[in-house]
Amino acid sequence: MSDAASYLFYQTRNPRPFLDRGEGIYLFDENGKRYIDGSSGAMVSNIGHSNPRVLAKIKAQMDKATFGYRLHFRTHPSEDLAAKTVLLMPRGLDRVFFVSGGSEAVESAVKLARQHALTQGQPKRYKVISRFPSYHGCTFGALDLTGYDPLREPFAPMMRGMPKIAAPATYLDRDNLSEAQRGLKYAELLRDKIIAESPETVLAFVMEPIGGASTGALVAPDSYYGRIREICDEFGVLLIYDEVMTGAGRTGRFLAAEHWGITPDIVAMSKGFGAGYAPLGAIVAGARLVEPVLDAGGFLHGFTYAGNPLACSAGLAVLEELEEQNLIENAARMGEVLMARLRELMDRYPFIGDVRGKGLLTAFELVSDRETMEPLPTKLNAYDRLVELAYARGLIIYSRRTRGGTSGDHFLVAPPLIITETQIDDMMVILRDALDAFAS
Ligand code: PMP
Repeated sequence: MSDAASYLFYQTRNPRPFLDRGEGIYLFDENGKRYIDGSSGAMVSNIGHSNPRVLAKIKAQMDKATFGYRLHFRTHPSEDLAAKTVLLMPRGLDRVFFVSGGSEAVESAVKLARQHALTQGQPKRYKVISRFPSYHGCTFGALDLTGYDPLREPFAPMMRGMPKIAAPATYLDRDNLSEAQRGLKYAELLRDKIIAESPETVLAFVMEPIGGASTGALVAPDSYYGRIREICDEFGVLLIYDEVMTGAGRTGRFLAAEHWGITPDIVAMSKGFGAGYAPLGAIVAGARLVEPVLDAGGFLHGFTYAGNPLACSAGLAVLEELEEQNLIENAARMGEVLMARLRELMDRYPFIGDVRGKGLLTAFELVSDRETMEPLPTKLNAYDRLVELAYARGLIIYSRRTRGGTSGDHFLVAPPLIITETQIDDMMVILRDALDAFAS
């Protein structure tokens, strides 16, 4: 192992150990230390590490052809992956465009929406409403949609500044409304915003169905989702679901949208779609939306690596594994177990203010007062400290200092969908130990 200084931006300040190998839910560093990958990297490694069947399928494709440019050849991996993806989608979403990551997927969705509006004779529609807090990526277009000031502000003059509405943070609301009423209250913010912006200028609304890095597995009340769909329809605004983190089975359904029976106009996916076996993502939309764009001269968009056969063979093998091993059902069942275990922690640690999520996208939030939900003081650096305490003990979790509307510390616990109940218990032993050290 080399201890030489690193040339990498992200390893010069807080260098991590060298990764040696992965196996299932575990990662091992070069010293032989084992880590439970309790966040699947950044909610990526949905089927676990080094899956031998997936590796064999990628290898088989490697032996044939690693690259064929999509405009020069059709390839079986890309056609088969597209067909399989469409089968897993809500009805009517039957056109697929591949990309290599989440930010690319979000930007592709917006550009498709814009080109579609032009084919409809609506050149004035360009505004894309999004929510705060939210995370949609780090390239300029995706960042403009991201509702998180510390990431945006340095670059703000270089972006358009798309309109934002508050994402539901009902666990912080102190009012007498029912959950259903609260969901509607937040959905109406979209209607008000569309009207304030002039409906004929609004192109699309983009949302994470369950907040990920931004709000920590924050699920809106059920009433929110259907009402948002209605409002978009009322004004001819396209509904884009950013399922980059929630898609590909993470929440116990292939898409989180299925929990509420919503068919978005465009879905963006990545992360678990390639599951760490390839940089891969996709946008999926209906022919109704895509065909007019193609008729009008084509989608003015595309990345060199889009739909390359190697990445697509990995994606195809990942979807096959999800199906053959019933991993989406496992995510739903193990998600209930994990959520129950996290809730038990609230009895032991008064500074855990909230536990939430769906399937295996779960989170807990630290507060200084559970009654007022006052966050911990910033200077405590809780989000860093607890992650380091867990890491030292061999558990990887993922933290951010944002939450609904204000700043606060939340921690995502999102292990690979292959996890078993015994492994969840092992994970909780380490997490409790880290929380004890944090409390002392
Ligand atoms: N959208 C969501 C919901 C995400 O969670 C992320 C990544 N955290 C992105 C988009 C951006 O994906 P990428 O980092 O692959 O560009």
